[in-house]
Amino acid sequence: MSATSLRLLSKTKQNARIVIIGAGSAGIAAGTRLLEQGFKNVLLLEAEDRIGGRIHTIPFGDNVVDLGGQWCHGEKGNVVYETVKDLDLLEATEDHYETFKCVRSNKEVLPDHIADQLKDIAFKSIPDRQTELLDFTGTLGDYCNQKFWKELAKLPPIDLTIAKEFLEIFHKFEASVEAADHLYEVSAKGHLDYWLCEGELLLNWRDKGYKSFLRLLMKAREDHPEDLGVLKGRVLLNRRVSQINWLAEDEVIISCCNGQVITADHVICTVSLGVLKEQHKQLFMPGLPLAKVRAIEGLKLGTVDKFFLEFEHPPLPSDWPAFNCLWLREDLDELRASELFWLESVFGFYPVSKQPRILQGWIIGPHARHMETLTEEKVLEGLLWLFRKFLPFEMPHPKRMLRTQWHANQNFRGSYTFRSTYTDELRTGAWDLEAPLLDVGGRPRLQFAGESSHKHYYSTVHGAVETGFREANRLNTYYRSRTAQL
Ligand SMILES: Cc1cc2nc3c(=O)[nH]c(=O)nc-3n(C[C@H](O)[C@H](O)[C@H](O)COP(=O)(O)OP(=O)(O)OC[C@H]3O[C@@H](n4cnc5c(N)ncnc54)[C@H](O)[C@@H]3O)c2cc1C
Repeated sequence: MSATSLRLLSKTKQNARIVIIGAGSAGIAAGTRLLEQGFKNVLLLEAEDRIGGRIHTIPFGDNVVDLGGQWCHGEKGNVVYETVKDLDLLEATEDHYETFKCVRSNKEVLPDHIADQLKDIAFKSIPDRQTELLDFTGTLGDYCNQKFWKELAKLPPIDLTIAKEFLEIFHKFEASVEAADHLYEVSAKGHLDYWLCEGELLLNWRDKGYKSFLRLLMKAREDHPEDLGVLKGRVLLNRRVSQINWLAEDEVIISCCNGQVITADHVICTVSLGVLKEQHKQLFMPGLPLAKVRAIEGLKLGTVDKFFLEFEHPPLPSDWPAFNCLWLREDLDELRASELFWLESVFGFYPVSKQPRILQGWIIGPHARHMETLTEEKVLEGLLWLFRKFLPFEMPHPKRMLRTQWHANQNFRGSYTFRSTYTDELRTGAWDLEAPLLDVGGRPRLQFAGESSHKHYYSTVHGAVETGFREANRLNTYYRSRTAQL
């Protein structure tokens, strides 16, 4: 038997060295599960100066806000919900995302009965999609348009200009759910890959934020905000990985940007699809197999950013739960020719649960990426202009404003993933991204986790967590079957 084979055979759960790249939801789930399963040598390398990745809860206003993942989407079959359901951490979010006012750029507010009819057509059509999309060839945008106009024709006449403006805003809202630049790049069929968990879809974390879930996973002590629980001493922050040599003789060699070199028997890579897209050619040595590269190119992720504005007092009148911005054609043409063009993709403002003094705005797509390059002053100036343009009342001046920059950050390069028509064209999917790279003996060397590698719950925290568990279980199964053979 060769020295290499002997060395590999001597590896057990006690001494196998496992490095997890990224300490977001998937990395933390993988790390905690591996330790539970009896692995002793587990290390997480994280590029940022904090754990959590696209879960980023920060103090703001009266308690906290979530810059990334904010809601637990659904209950049945949702690993996040199942973990916390008896702990009184979650609550259903008020219905502001349904009861928002629709206000036009000439300050005209759509009467509630008109707005409700339009919302009904647009939002209530969502459950039908599951069956109708099976036979639909085209994009989700085409489907939404067909469905919208078909249903509208069944109603008493509504001003078509207003209906069109509403459809535009619905597209933006839906594109934010997908994190697509627009719905015409979302595959209608691919959209069915995503499974909704039954139950309440917008469960918020009260005044604690999504990080309370990660703390629970790690078993962090409640009274110690910095405690990493079972991961204590196992996470290296500010440790950006620059190269993973995954075919070195019998180990994986990981080089970090600070010059540190770490060796491992197994690597679980959890970096986002955005990071893989931009960096896979330099990050992996040798380059990844073709099927993996196709998945990285074919799957897509876009940009969804948030604004948080803090006011002295609740800023909206009591009969204004939230509002969406509907552009009149002539105003839009004028906007597009101005330096404030990016405001076209700011689609709405909503309150934040347990934070009556905060208003949260959303922006998507290329305009979000442009917004990320502006100074905070410029962004605030733009938002205040938008308020003045649309609102039939004067907004108070905010005390503070925050905006996210998920695309500009080289450790994310986007918000979350979706299935595009290009994904269909390349006939690829999460299965190709998930597939581990094995050595000749069938030993997993380089594994992939993270939301983008989930076949059905991509784009979510519960999806990311499941992929972390999946890869920990893969290693556990490998070592169990090896022990059985010995
Ligand atoms: C604005 C926004 C809103 C969202 N809202 C929701 C929501 O309400 N509900 C929901 O379920 N989901 C939501 N999501 C999605 C959810 O946050 C993600 O799906 C999930 O957090 C992804 O976890 P992950 O572990 O796959 O990836 P990440 O959290 O991105 O973790 C990967 C980690 O790898 C690190 N990394 C990157 N490159 C390197 C490198 N070279 N070396 C070392 N480390 C590296 C990163 O810093 C990061 O910490 C939202 C996301 C965004 C951005």
